[in-house]
Amino acid sequence: MTQSAFKHTRLSARVISQILIAHPAYEIVLHAPDIAASARPGQFVMVTTIEDGVELRRPFSIYRASRDSGSISILYLARGSFTSHLAQRSPGDLVELIGPLGNGFSVGEMADEEYLLVGGGVGASPICFFARTLVRNYPELAANERLTVISAARTATLLVGVTELQESGFDVMVVTDDGSAGEQGSATDILILELDRRITSKNAPHKIVVYACGPMPLLRRIAQICLERNVRCQVSIETSMPCGVGECDDCMVPMNLARRTEPFTRACCVGPVYEADELLWEDSDTP
Ligand SMILES: Cc1cc2nc3c(=O)[nH]c(=O)nc-3n(C[C@H](O)[C@H](O)[C@H](O)COP(=O)(O)OP(=O)(O)OC[C@H]3O[C@@H](n4cnc5c(N)ncnc54)[C@H](O)[C@@H]3O)c2cc1C
Repeated sequence: MTQSAFKHTRLSARVISQILIAHPAYEIVLHAPDIAASARPGQFVMVTTIEDGVELRRPFSIYRASRDSGSISILYLARGSFTSHLAQRSPGDLVELIGPLGNGFSVGEMADEEYLLVGGGVGASPICFFARTLVRNYPELAANERLTVISAARTATLLVGVTELQESGFDVMVVTDDGSAGEQGSATDILILELDRRITSKNAPHKIVVYACGPMPLLRRIAQICLERNVRCQVSIETSMPCGVGECDDCMVPMNLARRTEPFTRACCVGPVYEADELLWEDSDTP
């Protein structure tokens, strides 16, 4: 995986719109042409604010990036104080951003690959950006049914981007914990069924690649499912990330020394997307 060249822009972005999707989920659209021009799926921005004279930063995956309109958007849950303040920003207000940051999802030999994209909760944000980008760049993927999105959430109102993906012709499998939309169950139940169906099918000419983003326990289980089946998997991890630009060591994640030479890497610069087998998965909520 290529390492980010630490090239990023710091700017004041004007709020274009602030859309309440379903409390506590919001999409904020920001005028940020420099970021929109280079953002790739899986990359993130640091939103910064000053509180009591101290700069606070929080990472958010890029949900949309449009070169044409020079805008990006992020999807977030207004839960704690940072995101609740962000939800109070109105069109015309300025938001300080650093980005685009980190390394995003990557594709291999397109011709013989089939993609299963899994997004859990707000983790579906970079997965939706990736799905839209794949189909724009490689329309044959959708035409040949080689791209499937599994979108999971606790309940229907917390599903991200599903209607829009379905209206664009994507094969989206929906699963909720409470059964309020799609199948009742978990993303991993569906993933196991879909992987095993493809692996055992006599007409399965393609290599399967899984891409996932969501809470760490979900990613750990997805990684395990894929590694057991020898299926390539990339995960975008969420970890504590105070600075986002490689200046502090708080986002260090342990690596699998069978695959990497360094015992730890900074998720902000080397990640947040990793090959699942590069990470050392432990029995806690961080890899
Ligand atoms: C690469 C990446 C992408 C992400 N993308 C999204 C996204 O698209 N949408 C989304 O809703 N969330 C995303 N997150 C998570 C998000 O950055 C934080 O969970 C969120 O900002 C917390 O805000 P809050 O208002 O709920 O809590 P806060 O009030 O900001 O914080 C609550 C407590 O948690 C600590 N804390 C919270 N976040 C961080 C952090 N990043 N680093 C260090 N300490 C922290 C604070 O110090 C405080 O003690 C992402 C995280 C990462 C690493």
